Amino acid sequence: MKTKPLLIFDLDGVIIDGMDEYWHSSRQACINLLGGELNNYLTNEIPEAFKYLRPWVQHGWEMVLITAELTRPESYLISEGWKKFAKHYSERCKEALEIWQWHPRQIQQVLDKVRTDQINKNLNAWLAKHECFSGIPDRINELQKEENDIAILTTKGAEFTGRLLKLFQIKSNLLYGHESGSKIDVLTQISQDRTILGFIEDRRATLEKVLKTPGLNSIPCFLASWGYLKPNDSKNLPQGIYLLEQKTFTRPLANWN
Ligand SMILES: [Mg+2]
Repeated sequence: MKTKPLLIFDLDGVIIDGMDEYWHSSRQACINLLGGELNNYLTNEIPEAFKYLRPWVQHGWEMVLITAELTRPESYLISEGWKKFAKHYSERCKEALEIWQWHPRQIQQVLDKVRTDQINKNLNAWLAKHECFSGIPDRINELQKEENDIAILTTKGAEFTGRLLKLFQIKSNLLYGHESGSKIDVLTQISQDRTILGFIEDRRATLEKVLKTPGLNSIPCFLASWGYLKPNDSKNLPQGIYLLEQKTFTRPLANWN
């Protein structure tokens, strides 16, 4: 049987706005890791630093690390501020991991467990912490009806992604969470036997990596303008990456670039 062409979507920052949930779960993961009384540092209100740094985050565990750094008065994040932290984001995260003596896999497991516990305890309360970007689920379902297959490719766990897709009634044909490997590895594997019409993502660095990867550089890459973008992300895009506005997204696929 002939397979349909594929459109691949990132989840967070493209389909889902889960800022409330990111903070709530990262805060709880941090409390579970550190124990003790952290309420002075970690209020229910989302700190500006956490919101500002979201576009730099590639994996969920980084949000837990940022949260932990907010509890450490001598951390770079507190002493120098979030804008300076963002300028040297990966180095600062590496240093923080060493200071806390944490491993990314370990923190990711704690975050995933916090999410599983919430789902088991009160699924609806967990789901209610997410919103979808207006009109996006409907448009994805339309694109599927137009004889495309839809894949979701995310660094979130597959279980949580599946719950959210169900909540927002998005019909995806394929789903790849962080358990499936890096986005580049998954794209490489998919591209062996499928035609990829587009990869829609809000992390510019990921799209740039796709373009630099042999065998993937012909995938049309779209930067979702409505997502979690850094201040200059939409400027001077390299050839092969197109800025996708919500208005353009409603138009036929052939008009996106
Ligand atoms: Mg994203």
